[in-house]
Amino acid sequence: MSTEFDVTALASQLTGPIFLPGDPGYDLECATFNLNSPLTPAIVVGAASVRDVQLAIRFATGHGLAVAVRGGGHLQPRTGEGQLMLTLDRMTSWTVDASRASVRVTGSPRWGQLMAPLAAHGLAAMNGSSPHVGVVGYLLGGGLSPVLARSHGYASDHVTAIEVVTADGELRRATEHSDLFFALRGAKGNLGVVTAVEFGVFPIPAVYGGGLWFPVDRLATLLPAWRDWAPTLPERAGTSLGIQRLPDLPGMPEPLRGAAVVHLRYSYVGGAAEGEALLTPMRGLGDPVFDTVTEMPYAASGTIHNDPPEPLPYFDLGTGLRWLPDAALAALVELTGPDSGCPLVNVEIRLLGGALDRAPDAPDAVPTRGLPYQFTAFGIGGPEQAGFVNGWLTRVIEGMRPWADPRQMLNFISPEAGLTPGELRGIYGADLYDRVVAVKEKYDPANTFRVNHNLVRA
Ligand SMILES: Cc1cc2nc3c(=O)[nH]c(=O)nc-3n(C[C@H](O)[C@H](O)[C@H](O)COP(=O)(O)OP(=O)(O)OC[C@H]3O[C@@H](n4cnc5c(N)ncnc54)[C@H](O)[C@@H]3O)c2cc1C
Repeated sequence: MSTEFDVTALASQLTGPIFLPGDPGYDLECATFNLNSPLTPAIVVGAASVRDVQLAIRFATGHGLAVAVRGGGHLQPRTGEGQLMLTLDRMTSWTVDASRASVRVTGSPRWGQLMAPLAAHGLAAMNGSSPHVGVVGYLLGGGLSPVLARSHGYASDHVTAIEVVTADGELRRATEHSDLFFALRGAKGNLGVVTAVEFGVFPIPAVYGGGLWFPVDRLATLLPAWRDWAPTLPERAGTSLGIQRLPDLPGMPEPLRGAAVVHLRYSYVGGAAEGEALLTPMRGLGDPVFDTVTEMPYAASGTIHNDPPEPLPYFDLGTGLRWLPDAALAALVELTGPDSGCPLVNVEIRLLGGALDRAPDAPDAVPTRGLPYQFTAFGIGGPEQAGFVNGWLTRVIEGMRPWADPRQMLNFISPEAGLTPGELRGIYGADLYDRVVAVKEKYDPANTFRVNHNLVRA
């Protein structure tokens, strides 16, 4: 099919393919995890080299097109007319340097691809709850590892080098530009297309953890118990609580099929006996309907959250929470408890704190240091259910507003949030936001990289 842009000259210079709407392969390049976020860019470049990325960006800026990137496709703002989208799958590679406990990736790997090569050396990366998430997008947005965050901080804190093609088409090694290196780790895709990243990994072959699922009618008891217990945990332990209405899907364990449950997630980096002892207060709350807590290889830690592996249509919304007094817990029971009628598949509170609150040696632009909880809600439904699901999401998030913090995890900001520059400035805080925007204006003065939570002057 054709486009209003003549891509003949560009196509003749690229190593990778170009796809226009209607071309075979276009839909595959545009596929994302959220089936409600169809991507419809005017041009897709399947970059096979850094030079392809440079050529595509120069073509886009020469034609006034915005540049989008589809990495692992797990948080894609809707792209559309007037946009050139890059995919980097054809450039994907990884190299593990076990002696330096360091990994270099290029292109667009997913965390799951790295876990086995790392496990072969007894190493663990700071991946998130789902192994299907893209490494680069995750690292640029902070990166909250459910297992390692409270002991090691944000994944962004452990990035040691970034290679990025900026709006002028130049490949820059960000560590040679301290402003760029600082802002990239927190500004996500606002500053350019990242082609390579190096980051630290850790000698952690095994972890103790899993999930305990309780009937949702225990929510009023579980919430205050979890609130009081969670902050007593050492930094080597992580936990979150999900209030879930699970779908009735074949392959799901029987007690969870179609069930309304409270999912307590728990991990401990250390021995099974200490890990189990720390969990005792929550075990004392009664028998779970399903229990997966055990010692496991680190590479299996994605089973702790058990996020859905296959793409699905969904909407989500989140906020940071400043505190959880009894009134907040009572509100949450009313909004999501057994008598609420809440249809949302997962409403969760993640405990932050520990090393997440400490600044890294090389300062970055992650704005949530000191935030105690991230609160996120997620509902399944296609476009025809958008009003219904988004109505519930808004009700739950607004219901928790009295206890909300202006900050929230960058990686959890939904495309549905449609945040204004003023609201984004509230999330980063004025000083940090203005610093990041100054770097953005230096490297991307025409705002070519605007297909994201766009960081511009408020
Ligand atoms: C099921 C699920 C579980 C999750 N769990 C966690 C978790 O535990 N912890 C956590 O921190 N986050 C989590 N996330 C959020 C996830 O980290 C973000 O959605 C992240 O942006 C996904 O990256 P991606 O490459 O998969 O997504 P994409 O949709 O491909 O990319 C998202 C954005 O990242 C930027 N980006 C991606 N690649 C590049 C690149 N090469 N150059 C420049 N910019 C780029 C762009 O701005 C892009 O729009 C989860 C998301 C889902 C859907």
